[in-house]
Amino acid sequence: MAHKSVFDASAVKSEFEVAGINPNFIPIIWKHVLQNPNCMWDEIPSLPVAVYSLLRSKFKPSTSTLHSALDSIDQTTTKLLIKLKNGEFVEAVIMRYDTRLGKYNGKPRPGGLRSTLCISSQVGCKMGCNFCATGSMGFKSNLSSGEILEQLVHATRIASIRNVVFMGMGEPLNNYSAVVEAIRVMTAPPFQLSPKKITISTVGVIHAISKLHRDIPNLNLAVSLHAPVQEIRCQIMPAARAFPLERLMNALRDYQACRFISPCQQKIFIEYIMLDGVNDEEQHAHQLGKLLETFEVVVNLIPFNPIGSLSRYKTSDDQKVAIFQIILRGTYNIRTTVRKQMGQDISGACGQLVVNLPGKGLVVNLPGKGSSRSADHITDIEDLRI
Ligand code: SAH
Ligand code: SF4
Repeated sequence: MAHKSVFDASAVKSEFEVAGINPNFIPIIWKHVLQNPNCMWDEIPSLPVAVYSLLRSKFKPSTSTLHSALDSIDQTTTKLLIKLKNGEFVEAVIMRYDTRLGKYNGKPRPGGLRSTLCISSQVGCKMGCNFCATGSMGFKSNLSSGEILEQLVHATRIASIRNVVFMGMGEPLNNYSAVVEAIRVMTAPPFQLSPKKITISTVGVIHAISKLHRDIPNLNLAVSLHAPVQEIRCQIMPAARAFPLERLMNALRDYQACRFISPCQQKIFIEYIMLDGVNDEEQHAHQLGKLLETFEVVVNLIPFNPIGSLSRYKTSDDQKVAIFQIILRGTYNIRTTVRKQMGQDISGACGQLVVNLPGKGLVVNLPGKGSSRSADHITDIEDLRI
């Protein structure tokens, strides 16, 4: 039998249960693996004998390998190319922010240097958004919860990760149970990330959104809306037919209503890719403003990253983006940021993450999330919660 990842929490827990071993040893094992990347099971001190033989026969410290890590020239972005045990590749991107450069209420932000990790949840994606390189690949496979966590484990060896965003390859809510399981581990020892520092970005899988706030309270939700009306949404995102805008907005309203019951009023982030002549005109800004004005949202306008020959779209010019932002802010009082791409020299920006393997040519494209720096000094969506 192939060995599983020791970070596949449910598999480890059920094997421990069958063997009658106390599950409290599991975080101790994870901690050791985090601190000792290439450890052998026998090197972990003070475990019951039965644990060693169980680990040896069923689990590996890592089923994926870090194939390469590429830094951008300005050192803000590092792209990790990770090989999964099925031979496929995914990418994860580390984005470093110096919070002191940004301003919050006119003062330098607290916190200093911190890193956000953008991770993948699937190889490929079945949603087929026609502006997205991953969409053009179709769906290849789901990552296990262990493979999702291993991206964090690999990245932790390079940077201290404070935020995680599911904005790499794949639709996280189409791999719901593995993503939820991975987040549960991320928010427990030894990782102990706050759920408020974890963001799931979704195309809008309505039934899963409704389940999510019950399964993991306080998580950040980012919705890739990209159009203010159903017709344009369907044109650029075929999945919109299955998830009609009106029903999606109702699900978001319920999601937000639940938030208001808890003391922690987290916003929903709306991602809006700016496609020249498609969804970036003044009338679209007004339609979007009307659609969102009764919600507690932050809109993130994303300049489209051309994806080579696949691309039928053009990036909106800066002036159009600025007018769009002014309308949303000025007329509808909606907090609106503009994402500026960085890390392009390593193909680390949205929709441009392209893996080049020596001798293999282009292997993987994924959307991911490039580093961002907005017009009003909000460097990424997590900054809004500090
Ligand atoms: N499937 C999820 C998460 C992965 S995509 C989702 O769609 O939300 C992460 C983000 O990258 C999404 O907002 C997506 O719309 C955006 N994206 C995809 N292709 C892009 C491109 N070519 N240029 C800019 N952003 C892109
Ligand atoms: Fe899938 Fe997201 Fe790309 Fe759409 S934008 S094809 S949902 S990865």
